[in-house]
Amino acid sequence: MAANILLVEDEPAIQELIAFNLTQAGHHVLRASTAEAALTLVRNALPDLVLLDWMLPGASGVDIAKRLRADERTRHVPIIMLTARSDEQDKITGLESGADDYITKPFSPRELLARIKAVLRRRAPQMTDDAVEVQGLRLDPVTHRVSGNGGTIDLGPTEFRLLHFFMTHPERVHSRSQLLDQVWGDHVFVEERTVDVHIRRLRSSLEVTGHDVLIQTVRGTGYRFSTQQ
Ligand code: CA
Repeated sequence: MAANILLVEDEPAIQELIAFNLTQAGHHVLRASTAEAALTLVRNALPDLVLLDWMLPGASGVDIAKRLRADERTRHVPIIMLTARSDEQDKITGLESGADDYITKPFSPRELLARIKAVLRRRAPQMTDDAVEVQGLRLDPVTHRVSGNGGTIDLGPTEFRLLHFFMTHPERVHSRSQLLDQVWGDHVFVEERTVDVHIRRLRSSLEVTGHDVLIQTVRGTGYRFSTQQ
């Protein structure tokens, strides 16, 4: 379960140590030392998870969490707050600001990785390795295989990620810009037309087993994965 993780930590030694451990575990790490730098990175590409140090120069981790939660685009990004405070009241403040979890320094790399996994499982099901199945269409992230009614379906890497996201977020409309954020991790440098191209390819691969009808166009809005016609 490799994720794009934004690490916001101002102490160089701690930042280095955490980034090293995350990279060793297969994650891709973006780093920021201030709120401003963190928000700039988030504007460019939506991370899968944010590790947020509470005490930063200028705006605090709590301020950043509140800002991410207040914006429609970043509202659902999982946040884990890192802090030296172990006070119960601080924990409540951290969680009320919108953090999904809270970890007190010092923590072991193992504990951090376990928390990350738990939060991703809860908040971003497309990041986990659980197989998903809808009406005979089955996608297995571990083997990277997709099958329809038992037969193999060949998908390119982008179509695979797109289908995985759809299957784990069914019955709701996703705009092209949301899909770019969630599937490409980038809504700035990739054109929205790109989404249509990959949707077309995905549908064409699913046609063989008739599962293409699950990918629906919602006129003027975007796309939806739905079992209802
Ligand atoms: Ca700090």
